[in-house]
Parts: sequence; C-alpha cells; structure tokens
Amino acid sequence: MKNLLKTFLYLLAYIGTRCFGICKANPEVAVLMYHSIDDSGWKLSVSEEVFRKQLEYLKENYNIVKLEEIVLYAASNTVFSGNTVALTFDDGYKNMYTTVFPLIKTMKIPITIFLTTNLERKEKLGGMERLSWQEVREMHESGLVHFEVHGHNHLNLKEIGHNKREISEEIDFCHQQIVEYINYRPSYIAYAFGHKDKNVIDYVRESGFIAGFTINEGLIKPGDNLFTLKRVQVDRTMNFNLFKMRLTSAVILHRKIVDSLRKFL
Ligand SMILES: [Zn+2]
Repeated sequence: MKNLLKTFLYLLAYIGTRCFGICKANPEVAVLMYHSIDDSGWKLSVSEEVFRKQLEYLKENYNIVKLEEIVLYAASNTVFSGNTVALTFDDGYKNMYTTVFPLIKTMKIPITIFLTTNLERKEKLGGMERLSWQEVREMHESGLVHFEVHGHNHLNLKEIGHNKREISEEIDFCHQQIVEYINYRPSYIAYAFGHKDKNVIDYVRESGFIAGFTINEGLIKPGDNLFTLKRVQVDRTMNFNLFKMRLTSAVILHRKIVDSLRKFL
C-alpha cells in the first residue's frame, strides 16, 4: 500500500514535470547510490536480476559516465548533450567483486565504490561480508572501478567533526589506506550515513577533497555546491517504474510534494 502511494505520488510528479514545463532546460543528470547487490532481503540491497535489468535500461537510455565527469558538470566545466548517470556503491561489500564486477566488465560500465577501509568491520554495515584488498586491487586495475573515501570505520562525522584527531583518523586514514593499497589518490568522499555539517565540510575541503556526496535526494545541475552533491538511492523497495521515474526531475518535485505534505500531516 505504501509503495502504491509512493508510485502514485511519483507519477503525479512525473506528469507535473512533463506537462507544466517544470523541467528541463538542462539534461537530467543523476548520481545513483547503491549499497549491495544480493538476495538477502536487506532493505538497502537490490537483487542481481533487478540490477541487471536496471543496467540494461540505463545502457539503452542514458549516457553512463565516470563520477568525475559529473563533478565537472556540477562545477560548470563541462556540458552533457543528453540525460546522464554515474553509478556509486557505498561501503564495499564482497558482492561488489562477485556480482557487480563481472556484470560491469561485460557491459563496460564505469562505477565508483565509496569504501569503508576497515574491511573487518561489519557492524552498521548490514553484518555483511566485505571486500578483500586483493579484490579491491583487481577491480581498480581494470580501470572500470574507482575507489573513493567513505571513512575508515563508517563513523558519524558530525559526532567527531569537532575533534581534529578523531576526524583525521576516520577520513585521512581511510584516504591513506587507499593510496597505500592501490596507489590511487581519492578526491571524493561520501559522508557515512549522509551525516555532515559545516565542521565536517570545512575539514574535508581543507584536506584537499574536490567533492562530497550526501544521501539527500535529487539530481545534479551546474553550479551545485560540490560538497553537498545529491544522489538518488536505489534499493529493493522500489519497483521498475519507480526506478525509471526517480532518474528524472520527478525526483525533485516528489521531494517537494512530500516535504509540503509533512508540514500539514
Ligand atoms: Zn555507508
């Protein structure tokens, strides 16, 4: 019932954006946020079968680009001629190697994994098996998979943002581990749980990062703040029609409708 209502609201938003000219001076550009591709039933996961169908749809209907091209677009340093997506995966689960990697290799799709570098850590990460550094290295060497920072222990950065030592151990150590194991210098961070504030953003910017990604829902447009870039979550609660609509400006209008309704309910 809840899903039906959500799909209906999205349909309204989708029709609204198409009929009333709310979109679309620019192409629709989205950064998709996945977590895990598996059949566990975990809320944040997507089954392999559904994921494959989504990739086929994206391949047919969108430019699929590296994340750096979308950062350049947000910084107004490049343009896209058509609707465009980049794929990101948070945390770094084993199924990135066993399920996602074979698929994206066959389909030649670039992806970014925001890696929590303490690969022993499962707490607050769905209790799921994590990648090994050997697997990280092999994916990195393919040229199709980019690894970026998601914190060493997946801590809430807002809680430690006032403590220079703690935030350094979380962010800088994560960065160092990626440099050390695969000889690649990350430039982007996805804030664990989406938690960030001015302290965190200042720290990240001063540490030399170029962009930060949130879990706030929305598309990307030129001139966006590079340290609060929005993404579109993909998880098992959404049907295929919802997936397709959430890649469009409907995601923005739907957010506005839901926020307005919340004020009255
Ligand atoms: Zn995460």
